[in-house]
Amino acid sequence: MSVYKNRIDLHMHTSSSFDGNYSALQMTESAIANSVSTIAFTDHFDVDFYERHNLGVRQQTSYEDIMSVVESQSDKIRILRGIEMGQPTYDIKLTEKSLARYEYDFVIGSIHNLREMPDFGDLDYKSMTEDKIYDLLGQYFDEMLLLAKWNGFDTLAHLTYPMRYIVQAGRSEIELSRFDGIIDDIFSTLIANGKALEINTSGLRQPIGKTMPTEDYVRRYRELGGELLTLGSDAHFTEHVGAGIDEGYAIAERCGFEYVTYFRDRKPIKVKIEK
Ligand SMILES: [Zn+2]
Ligand SMILES: [Zn+2]
Repeated sequence: MSVYKNRIDLHMHTSSSFDGNYSALQMTESAIANSVSTIAFTDHFDVDFYERHNLGVRQQTSYEDIMSVVESQSDKIRILRGIEMGQPTYDIKLTEKSLARYEYDFVIGSIHNLREMPDFGDLDYKSMTEDKIYDLLGQYFDEMLLLAKWNGFDTLAHLTYPMRYIVQAGRSEIELSRFDGIIDDIFSTLIANGKALEINTSGLRQPIGKTMPTEDYVRRYRELGGELLTLGSDAHFTEHVGAGIDEGYAIAERCGFEYVTYFRDRKPIKVKIEK
């Protein structure tokens, strides 16, 4: 049973993503069955893996699949045309050219790996020194600040992403307080630019057991003047569409937010959080 009205899930992947599993129609049917009122499809476009992921073709497949459900299902649910731009700052020219190919409602900005490095999920934290882990995290937050300053997205996704894997590897002694200054800079940049912060709820169903970022950071974003907040399950499977969205709304409310946001034609639209 859903607790909140107007459940909005703005982050999910179809089989057009390299790690996706279901069609846009299957994901949409699951959203309807789970009382989600608004969804955005946000297939991966990791710009630094353009060749390896065959993104020229995948982007087209993704957009056409999304358009087919926009046309056939929009009488039942609000469907937004989105994309998750990974590492856009690593090749801004290619990013901008690719974004101009289609008319998107909503663009997610994210970082999954450092330059010329594997995904943070593919690093071995078990045998890594504490200094090395903090060094990687420092570089990650530097990249997130650069991404925020680039400003070509609508919401900044899963801030603290590497922690999902660091905690999973049993390194629970690693904590983020030394990065609070740069995280404040990231929030201030988003706020000054009128961009949103994402609460990514996928961590709630993973060993870390928390949203990305965690509630403390969502509260800090609010304290600094943050108003635009998006929620996303980051579902790669039909059973995860809408997962954790109620908990995300509860976090947003506890942090002082009265509204969540979705984007249409790249413009923010606020929706009241209501039970
Ligand atoms: Zn992502
Ligand atoms: Zn994603």
